[in-house]
Amino acid sequence: MTVWDEVVGQPAVVELLRSAAAAAADIVSGQPVPPGAMTHAWLFTGPPGSGRSVAARAFAAALQCERGGLGCGECAGCHTVRARTHADLHQVVPEGLSIAVHEMRAIVVSAARLPIGGRWQVVVIEDADRLTEAASNALLKAVEEPPARTVFLLCAPSTHPDDIAVTIRSRCRVVALRTPSADAVADVLVRRDKIDPAEAAWAAQAAQGHVGRARRLARDGQARDRRRAVISVPASLTSLAACFTAADQLVKAAEEEAAAVSAELDGPETEALERSLGAGGTGRGVAAAVRGTAGAIRDLQRRQKSRATRAQRDALDRALVDLAAFYRDVLVVGTGAEVRPAHPDAADDVRRLARALAPEDALVRLEAVLECREELELNVKPRVAVEAMAVALRLP
Ligand SMILES: [Zn+2]
Repeated sequence: MTVWDEVVGQPAVVELLRSAAAAAADIVSGQPVPPGAMTHAWLFTGPPGSGRSVAARAFAAALQCERGGLGCGECAGCHTVRARTHADLHQVVPEGLSIAVHEMRAIVVSAARLPIGGRWQVVVIEDADRLTEAASNALLKAVEEPPARTVFLLCAPSTHPDDIAVTIRSRCRVVALRTPSADAVADVLVRRDKIDPAEAAWAAQAAQGHVGRARRLARDGQARDRRRAVISVPASLTSLAACFTAADQLVKAAEEEAAAVSAELDGPETEALERSLGAGGTGRGVAAAVRGTAGAIRDLQRRQKSRATRAQRDALDRALVDLAAFYRDVLVVGTGAEVRPAHPDAADDVRRLARALAPEDALVRLEAVLECREELELNVKPRVAVEAMAVALRLP
């Protein structure tokens, strides 16, 4: 498989990146290339799950590919980028809610060095929309005057100023990805992940074009159970009490999911840090070292807490996406539109609600779910936002 096989359902994007990677290889081997054939700063945009960071990483691999920028998927260059161990690859993956300025400065400094492998220094910034203003300014300086062999690959939901500073965007070539079709997603699950075709088709449809989510649904029974619980919510909202119960369950499920993620990551991280700081010891300087140790551990705890908040919000957001799709299905049935449903396995509930709700009432509920997503994005307390939404979803 070449590195491009990972980029699902985006033929135009792959075409563009392939030719840029070929031009980049020509630059490395000292051949002339037409102006604009290769660019130092790229911005990958697209809705969650469209594969912006996957596309950025495939491009990064092609830039380091030892076979003329082909992105063969087999050479050491392609392999080490995919394994994230390539010496000239710098990745910024925020675990918390923002990317701090010190992190950005450190990356900019190391990316300014000549590439060790003789090709390119590649900086991949996933979630560039989470750069703090100071971090954004540190990055801007580097993007304004990029070193000759440095390439910046930024990923953000859109080119909106809320997502990426106008000053940075104006210096980037924009690669717009779209949500891949369910067929394209199912196809990759079958080919790459060896998932049974019928199961892949179901998961791709239920995940609404989100490749990662489709894979989880196909493989992880708990993920399927959580989805099942979420899409059974709308039909249960027959009283105010039921609304509060459902809200409580949605929030708790997200907390549990986040806690499971944290439990898996926090312990080993803290242990590794303590080991690297050499817990224990005697002699002069120990007091200072201990103070330093406490600081580093506090720092780690802060990052872990921020990651947990993020994980909880992501889990809740996934549930809301499923809920929104449910009301969309109700609208589809209510209006008699010929569109494939997102939740074919909830067809009974969908039909029942389509009888109970006029299309405009279903639309109001769909909007209530989307509004809840926006409020969470604005840092409204999850419980408050979800309770308000659940009450608005109550059945007549
Ligand atoms: Zn290769």
